[in-house]
Amino acid sequence: MISSKIDFAKFKEILLKEKQRLQEKERRIDMRNSSASEGDEVSESADYDNHPADAATETESRTKDLALDENINFLLAQIDEALRKIEDGTYGACDRCRGMIIPERLKAIPYATLCIDCQDIVEELG
Ligand SMILES: [Zn+2]
Repeated sequence: MISSKIDFAKFKEILLKEKQRLQEKERRIDMRNSSASEGDEVSESADYDNHPADAATETESRTKDLALDENINFLLAQIDEALRKIEDGTYGACDRCRGMIIPERLKAIPYATLCIDCQDIVEELG
């Protein structure tokens, strides 16, 4: 058995809350992106004759949103994975070495799939 110190029910609650928070964030980004594409760019770019700096800024902020969106999707996938692990009782075990992830780490990152040692190794390789 993996540790009995990990309170699965508590982490499940934390994960579900985090999932909800991320999904709301994602919805807000989606709304912003769809309203931005429907206009209000026209008036300004006419005055500035498509000033390169403006165009760059706009592209940059969209890229940022996109990156954020991707990050959220990534986190949501991790949370789903953690929830699945809670269901089959493997939550808290490191994906790489099968060792136990310390509860302190799970409290900080409830969807962590690697122990601190493995995380370091992966990041170094990354
Ligand atoms: Zn590990």
